[in-house]
This record gives sequence, C-alpha cells and structure tokens, in this order.
Amino acid sequence: MSRLLFLILLVLAARPAAAVTLEMNGAFTQGGIIMGRTDPGTELTLDGKPVRVSPDGIFVLGFGREAEPKAELVARGADGREQRRTLDVAKRDYKIQRIDGLPQKYVAPPADVLARIRRENAEIKRVRQIDTEHAYFAEGFIWPAKGRISGVYGSQRILNGEPKRPHYGVDVAAPAGTPVVAPAGGIVRLAERDLYYTGGTIILDHGHGLTSAFLHMQDVTVKVGQELKRGDPMGTIGSTGRSTGAHLDWRINWFDVRVDAAVLVPPMGE
Ligand SMILES: [Zn+2]
Repeated sequence: MSRLLFLILLVLAARPAAAVTLEMNGAFTQGGIIMGRTDPGTELTLDGKPVRVSPDGIFVLGFGREAEPKAELVARGADGREQRRTLDVAKRDYKIQRIDGLPQKYVAPPADVLARIRRENAEIKRVRQIDTEHAYFAEGFIWPAKGRISGVYGSQRILNGEPKRPHYGVDVAAPAGTPVVAPAGGIVRLAERDLYYTGGTIILDHGHGLTSAFLHMQDVTVKVGQELKRGDPMGTIGSTGRSTGAHLDWRINWFDVRVDAAVLVPPMGE
C-alpha cells in the first residue's frame, strides 16, 4: 500500500461519525409547511409517522390547524445513526368569519344529495392519499391567481348563523374568468366541473403527499394524469358550488393534514 493511500485511510477511520444532515425551512406554526433536506437514504419519522425522503434527500411535512406545540422528528441515517429534533410549533389565533345569504341547500344539504356528497368526498380523500415520489414542491410556489384576499386559513365559519367546519383555504377574489395557473409543478389527480360543494375543482399532486386543491372554478382546462409545470394555465376563477362570489379557494393538504397554502408564497402584491 502506498504511504499516501495509507494516510488517507487513517484519516477516514479517525474521523468522528458526522451527525445526520437535517436542514429545514418553512413555517413552524400550526398550518405550517416545512421543506427540508437530509442525507440520501435517511429514514425520517414525524411523531412516529414515516416521512418520505426523495433519492436526493428532500422531504416535506406539515402541521395541522390544531397541531400540538411540539413535534418529534427522528432521522435514522443509512448507517443506523439516529438524530432526534424537537420542533416547536407556534400556536395561531383564528378569525371568526360569518357568511350569510348562502342558499340553504348548501348549509343543510337535502337528503337526496347526501349520497353524491359522500361519493365526491371519498374521491377527494382517495386522491389526497397518493404518495408520488417526485418532489415537485421543492422548486417553490407562486400564487395561482392574483386578487384580493377574501378568506384565510383556519377561520371558524358561521354560515347563515350556523357554526360549521373551519375554512382551510386562502380565498383570492377576482373577476370570473381570471386565469388560474399551477402554483408549482405536479400531476393533475382530479379535474371536475361540478362537485356539489366546490363546483369546478382541480387537485394537483406536488409529490410526497402534498396536494393543492382549487375550488369554485368556472373553467377547468386540464385533465387527470396531465403533468403541469409551475405557471401552466389550469382554467379560470368562478363562483361554482357553495360560493357567494367569484373567487379562487386554494388549499393544500399533506395527506389528510390540512395546511395553509399562504405560508408558501410571498404576501400578495398589488
Ligand atoms: Zn374559501
């Protein structure tokens, strides 16, 4: 063995085992979305639930509306080394939003549409479980449409005086017909013109269980299975389904965890 090679081997052997790389970026709040990078081959869990890591070490995770103040991230390197990180998840205060004047059939749906609503919800639920290996989300997000913010994540909804489930989207109010573009790349998993509550609806799969939904659209110009690049047109803003005016409701899920789309984009400019 050459003296040089021997020295190199000696240095490698003496080097202390480095910790697993764990870099994270994003909103450490309820509704927050975190993107990160670790060493390829690392196994990650968040509070015991596996988190997909791409072949080059990229991952995404999210915190729900009522997420606990702490979350435990465990990274196990390919060589078995483990690193634990306790993540602080800041609490958020949510607004109360009253909406009156909705047609009563949307507040208390008539019995004959319950089967339809169940069917549509089951399909949406199925699509949100899809775990695509491509990390489209890693390229970053833009607003899918520009306009006035008329609704935010997490607000408690009171519809025609009745307390309902919270609102999970960010609402962008703009005239019907305003173009809607893909906020990041992805694969279209659902493209429907007329769902009961959400009207014209698209669900775009950004990879690793992160999906965007776009609701109340007037035109839907994409098809299931189509791959979109960030900025590609998808249709137009409308007021279809349970809606009181033209707006785009954009919401993001990490599997069944509802997160806040607005944390991914800069504040809406003029
Ligand atoms: Zn909305």
